[in-house]
Amino acid sequence: MPKLDYLVEELVTGNRILAREGVVDSFGHISVRHPDNPQRYLLSRSRAPDCIEKDDIMEFMLDGTPVDPRGRAPYLERFIHGALYEAQPEVMSVVHHHSESVIPFGVVANQRIKPIFHMGASIGHEVPVWDSHDHFGDTALLVENMEMGRDLAKLMGAGRTALMRGHGATVTGRNIRHAVYISVYLEVNARLQQRAMDMGEVKFLTPGEVDKVASRTGSYGITRAWENWCRRAGRPFQPEQA
Ligand SMILES: [Zn+2]
Repeated sequence: MPKLDYLVEELVTGNRILAREGVVDSFGHISVRHPDNPQRYLLSRSRAPDCIEKDDIMEFMLDGTPVDPRGRAPYLERFIHGALYEAQPEVMSVVHHHSESVIPFGVVANQRIKPIFHMGASIGHEVPVWDSHDHFGDTALLVENMEMGRDLAKLMGAGRTALMRGHGATVTGRNIRHAVYISVYLEVNARLQQRAMDMGEVKFLTPGEVDKVASRTGSYGITRAWENWCRRAGRPFQPEQA
């Protein structure tokens, strides 16, 4: 299968999985960098992730300009994706979502999401919080231009995750499956962390433990999860293409 066709299939599946696993609801989106042109990316038209079909996938320049819109309306927050692809050449997929369990950690001072169990190690040592109010004052909280997207990308640096105060979270990956995997476990980690904090003092994974687990999180484990999530989302499982 040509790489572009493969990635469009993966992107549809990624949307459906994120919806099935409770990371996105009617809002939220996932993109992939274009396989033939690193200055472009693929992202659905503005539609709920669980409804997305192949024909919804659009191509964008990094600044958010649609290449061939054919009347399809894009997401307002597409600038998150382009800004991250622009800032981090290694990033191949971006997820933006508003999953419920992460939101409290973006609004309470000094309460950061940190890996609490080994599946959570892929989120990084600690999830930073981007506050749009710091540089942009009172806004609708949405990332609706490149200036805001670049500010978020600057805070994330080479990190995989960031919360957005009063809004949601953004995740990057080395491919679609990796970005989905981190997104799912960011939500699970936040939920378990909240539960543990309610019980008492939490012993988080040590930085060394996080590094060791993260270094072993490859396509072997991610593919196992992906196959299961495909089944749960009612999507065909296709062999991974490099
Ligand atoms: Zn959003």
